[in-house]
Amino acid sequence: MKGRIHSLETFGTVDGPGIRFVLFMQGCALQCQFCHNPDTWDTAGGKQVTVDEIVKELEPYLEYYRRSGGGITVTGGEPTLQAGFVAQLFQECKRRYGLHTTLDTSGFCDPEHVAELIDATDLVLLDLKQMNNAKHEALTSQPNERIHRFANELSELGKPVWIRHVLIPGLTDSFEDLYALGAFIGKLQNVQKVELLPYHRMGVYKWQQLNKKYPLEGVPVPSEHEVERAWTIVQTGIAASSRGRDIRINQSN
Ligand code: SF4
Repeated sequence: MKGRIHSLETFGTVDGPGIRFVLFMQGCALQCQFCHNPDTWDTAGGKQVTVDEIVKELEPYLEYYRRSGGGITVTGGEPTLQAGFVAQLFQECKRRYGLHTTLDTSGFCDPEHVAELIDATDLVLLDLKQMNNAKHEALTSQPNERIHRFANELSELGKPVWIRHVLIPGLTDSFEDLYALGAFIGKLQNVQKVELLPYHRMGVYKWQQLNKKYPLEGVPVPSEHEVERAWTIVQTGIAASSRGRDIRINQSN
């Protein structure tokens, strides 16, 4: 089986624990206005590779991944669009090297379609982009119900999850939306960590290279104070919905 990839990184440190081999899959069904990888959207782009070819790429660095408590992370684009390939890759990484596997996903997928992949995944990084459905659709081009169904399914399975949320001034930082995010997280049984990722503009040049108009022109990056305020609101939502249940959530950004 072949997969279509955008690129790879051998020393990733921000997409899961430890030092990681990070594979960027090609293709995404969303079109997030803040996306810093719009060059991964086209399902016909990138290049085709085999599982064996990817395994050979990571082999020279295995000691770094193991000693740091790291492993492999597959991100994108949207890796669940190529669930069969990523499942095989994770199975091989586990069978040959016992590597820890992390899936970084928007969650815009059908749980049945990704069952084998989830089974081979140790940790899911799940991006919850906007709790308000109309705003979600405006921000990403798709509604959020399917993503919430997937989050609930992972909770029922007890699959470890880190939740990620990009904090964008004026778009994802209202009190109501952040509180709703916390309330949703507080009901899940499997969240180990929540990451509030301040919006940044590092991918803007890619939109220009693709001759696409950048939709968030003029939107500022959030200040430290705004990030702290957001944390307080999210934590209030979590506390309210978990009703004293002892949930271990490590914040990070
Ligand atoms: S889901 Fe990720 S890759 Fe896809 S458009 Fe959104 S930010 Fe970009």
